[in-house]
Parts: sequence; structure tokens; C-alpha cells
Amino acid sequence: MPQRTIIEPFRIKAVEPLRFTTRAEREQALAAAGYNLFTLHADDVLIDLLTDSGTGAMSSEQWAAIMRGDESYAGARSFDRFHAAVSELTGFAHIIPTHQGRAAERILFGAMVSDGDVVPNNTHFDTTRANVEFQGAEARDLVCPEGRDLQLDAPFKGNIDLDALERTLAEEGDRVPLVLVTITNNSGGGQPVSLENLRGVRALCDRFETPFILDACRFAENAWFVHEREAGQHDRTPREIAEEAFRLADGCTISLKKDGLANIGGVLALNDTEVAARCRDDLILTEGFPTYGGLAGRDLDALAVGLTEVTEPDYLRYRVRTAAYLAEKAWDAGVPTVRPPGGHAVYLDAGALLSHLPQSALPAQALACELYLEGGVRGVEIGTLMFGRPGADGAPDEVAPHELVRLALPRRTYTQSHVDYVGEVIAAVAARAEEIPGYRIVEQPRWLRHFTARLAPMAG
Ligand SMILES: *Cc1c(COP(=O)(O)O)cnc(C)c1O
Repeated sequence: MPQRTIIEPFRIKAVEPLRFTTRAEREQALAAAGYNLFTLHADDVLIDLLTDSGTGAMSSEQWAAIMRGDESYAGARSFDRFHAAVSELTGFAHIIPTHQGRAAERILFGAMVSDGDVVPNNTHFDTTRANVEFQGAEARDLVCPEGRDLQLDAPFKGNIDLDALERTLAEEGDRVPLVLVTITNNSGGGQPVSLENLRGVRALCDRFETPFILDACRFAENAWFVHEREAGQHDRTPREIAEEAFRLADGCTISLKKDGLANIGGVLALNDTEVAARCRDDLILTEGFPTYGGLAGRDLDALAVGLTEVTEPDYLRYRVRTAAYLAEKAWDAGVPTVRPPGGHAVYLDAGALLSHLPQSALPAQALACELYLEGGVRGVEIGTLMFGRPGADGAPDEVAPHELVRLALPRRTYTQSHVDYVGEVIAAVAARAEEIPGYRIVEQPRWLRHFTARLAPMAG
């Protein structure tokens, strides 16, 4: 096509009004929320980029499928349609629906992981890590060296380090119950994993007779990056690439709140019949009967449609372009980001932008608060508020490796002018970066403090 603009590949049939606030109202709301964006009311947020999980818009076909939902307790037609969609996509023998991704993780690790085990991954997502550690095992991150360098431009920064994986498998032996690979690598900036890397994992898992499980929340975005960037893959469709990725593994857990294009749902799929039987027993105990697993029939139907729509090239081209477009706006404003932009989010480097603030003054939280105050844009701090902790017995507080603000893009929800607006907000904040105050924590819980801590700005 001669036109350069990549347009939204849909038109809008239902609209949800946005609520505009004044700067004074936002100042008041943020102070009342203890300067914690998780505590804000959604009503006080204009553009909500807190997460891409379960926040997207469904298509007219998905809404039509909702009406076809069969709410029979057992053997519902909705389950048959869900089963067919997941089975065609992944090829796995046993398909177990769950209410979201972490339930699939808990059930799988409950069946396969024991005290003292080691679970390798490129980078564990926080719920994945928590569920591995809950079994008494070690969650070991083995992302490739390029993946640890924020600014480096490389095509597959989500790859697992195959040499480090081989060493782990050789040294830990039977203590490795399974190998995980997360596509795309969410905690590593939404970076993709190549098919070549997945084939390397398959070969090692064959040699060491260890099951290979994908954490496949963003399998479609990963397939698009492979289509665009990996040698020999450009003539294949994202669908074909995703199908091959699943067939290299022995099973998967997926949060369908991401590339399922629905607001709730998850799945655990496996080839091993004996492990699947144990997982189903646990499912019945905690989630529900194996033909609905914590979901309504209508949810299963919406997912069956979403799982076919999500690999459409027009959708994926627009999706990945949106993140890149927002990153370019940030660069134009002089704000560094993790490079290259991921599929689902842009990660602003607050440590670099607010270099006048030491990490103890929470620069990423300061930037996140300022984006909200400036234009009602809500992102999420991924820095010392999230990953640091108070020092024990008068020792200095622990800080995070990086100070980032993640702006996650809900699927099919915001238009290009919304993204332009976010770019303007970033630029306005960047223009007065050196005036932005730091923050201190006033009150914090013992675990996962970023969700509920209360903060206060430091005097400027
Ligand atoms: C979201 C996510 C999960 C957990 O899924 P939930 O649906 O939030 O429970 C696990 N792994 C990755 C990579 C994720 O992005």
C-alpha cells in the first residue's frame, strides 16, 4: 500500500466515555491515594496504561459468541469450541481451562515442582516466580546477556541463555522438574524469543529428558516479531509460527487476559496424560469442573474467537506498531526507553530522565506520579517501590536494578490520537524533569508493597 500510516484495523461500534479532570482535581485525587497509582479510582484516570491484562476491547464476533455461551455445568458446547480453538493452535493433548494464568501456574507447579527444585526460565513473571517459590523451589532467571542491557538494540532480547541452561540442567540434574520459557519476556521489557532459541531449548530438554513448558501469554506478539525479524520466517504467517512454537514444547500455561483478547481466562495444556490427570484433580478441588475451570461458558466462547483473531497479521502489525510509535514519541521528547520497544508496552527509563534523584527518592514512582498529574495518564512503576525493600537493622534500603515506568497498551482500546496525547504528556513532563520532586514511603506492608504503600513527595 502506498499509504504509510498503519491504521487501527477496526471501526468502533460501542464507546465508553472518558472522564476529564482538572490538574487541581488530579492533585487532590493523588494525595488522597497516598501518591500510589494503584489506589486511584479508575474514574480519576483519563488514559489507563497500568496493564494490558484483561483491559482490552472484544470484537463484535466475540460479543456475538458471548450470546452463544452454553452455561451447562458439564460437557457444555462452549467448552467444545474452546477446546477446538486451543487444540488447533497448540496441538497439546490435554486442555484444562482456568480462571486466569496464575491458576494454571499453581496447578501445574503443584503437580510437578517440589521442595528444593530449580526452575529455569528466561525471566519469571512475578506470579510465576511466586508460584515456583510457593512450592519451595528456586526460580532461576537465565535471560541472554543482550536481554540484560536496557539500551542495546537486538532482535531477540527475550532468548534464554542456552549455555547457562545447559549448565543448569547438567549441574542440577533431577532437581530441574521442568524448563520454562516466557514468550514474550514480559518482565524483560516484552522482548521476543526466536524460534531458533526455542528449538535449542527443545534439544536440551530432549537430551536431559526434562519437560519444556511455555509461559505463552503473548504468543501472538512473539510470533509477529519472529515473522518480522528472524531469518527465513518472513514468508510464514504469525499463525504458522505460533503453531510451531507450541509444538516445540510439552505444554503451556497461558493467561488469556493477554493474547486471548478477552477480559478473563487462562489455560493449562499438556501432552503428559498422567500429569494432566493430577492437574484435573486439583482443578476440580479449586477452580471447577474440567469443562469450565472457573470460567463461565460465555467466557470460553469469547476466548475461542479471540484466539483466532489475535494471530491476524493486520491486528498484529497495528498492535506492535502502536508500542513503537509511542516509544518514538518518548525518544523525540528526549526520554530514553528500553530498546527495542516490546509488543505490549513502552518502558520509560526514569533513572536516566530524573538523574537528579537518587534511587532512594524513587525516581520511577516520581515520573509515574508526574505523568498522572500532568495529563491523567496512569502507568506503573517498575523500580525500587516494586522491587526494593527496607534495609534490616539500620542497613541501607535495597534498591531495584532499574528505575522504569511501564506504559502498557490495552488491546484495541485506544486510538492513535490517544497515543499522540500520551506522547504530549511525556514531552511536557520531560521539559521540566529537573523540577520533579522525589518521593518517600510513609507506610508500607511487608509483602508486595507497591500495591498498597502510602507515599509523600519530598520538599523540592
Ligand atoms: C499476566 C502473566 C501471568 C499471570 O497471569 P494472570 O492472568 O495475571 O494470573 C503469567 N506470566 C506472564 C508472562 C504474564 O504476563
